Amino acid sequence: MITPVLEVFFLAMENQSQLWHLRLGHRSQQALHQLHKSIKGIPSFDVSSDTSPCKGCAMGKMAERSYPDSSKRATRPLALVHMDLVGPFPVESRVHSRYILTLIDDSSGFAVVAFLRNKDDAAVRFLDMVRWCETFTGSTLTSVRSDRRGEFMGHLQMFFSSRGVTHQTSAPHVPQQNGCAERFNRTMLEKAKAIMHHACMPRIFWQDAAEVAVHLYNHQPMRRHTWKTPIEIFNGDPPDISYFKVFGTHAYVYIQPEQRDDKLAP
Ligand SMILES: [Zn+2]
Repeated sequence: MITPVLEVFFLAMENQSQLWHLRLGHRSQQALHQLHKSIKGIPSFDVSSDTSPCKGCAMGKMAERSYPDSSKRATRPLALVHMDLVGPFPVESRVHSRYILTLIDDSSGFAVVAFLRNKDDAAVRFLDMVRWCETFTGSTLTSVRSDRRGEFMGHLQMFFSSRGVTHQTSAPHVPQQNGCAERFNRTMLEKAKAIMHHACMPRIFWQDAAEVAVHLYNHQPMRRHTWKTPIEIFNGDPPDISYFKVFGTHAYVYIQPEQRDDKLAP
């Protein structure tokens, strides 16, 4: 395997602190201090005290503010799930998506997202995501909280009533009542923008950046979960993240000999 160029640069500088800041999608110094308690697969290093802003943080997260934390949490996975639909995005993604449907488990903060071309796909995709979560955790969905946005909620009422799932809706135009989903979307989109702009990638890659941002979010310790990772609370074990690479890192692709044009092809 070939080590990507940017990573070689940071390893050569022995700047592990900066390298893991980038690999984890521009995570804060405070969070880097907590990594070893709940994640496997990272070397020990001193967290840099350098507070000068990095390019990705400046371009993706400048407006970051803290939200008030609601203190009451569900006590088991899927007891309460927050749902939200984000979009339409100003440009279609590389694979023609315009919306993100997000589900966040209240007890763990674990997030699952789907990328949609049309709003109309939301109900079907929601059911797929619920099925996946129930299989993954062995738990059953009990209640869902969302705002009233989107016609797709109508299609789900049958599912909710047949399964005995409680559906809580917030008042129209009061997104704060759907605070958990709002906060997640904001954090996730800031992370996606930080890694995308840091890598100087064009906007059609927003879905790729968002997918990675969600993966990073699920695999990093959270202060409000006593510095445990969402995936551990959702499904058991502390994650091993030794495979993480910086998003947008230059890499070389190995082409099988039989797929090359001729003997001199790279
Ligand atoms: Zn940064």
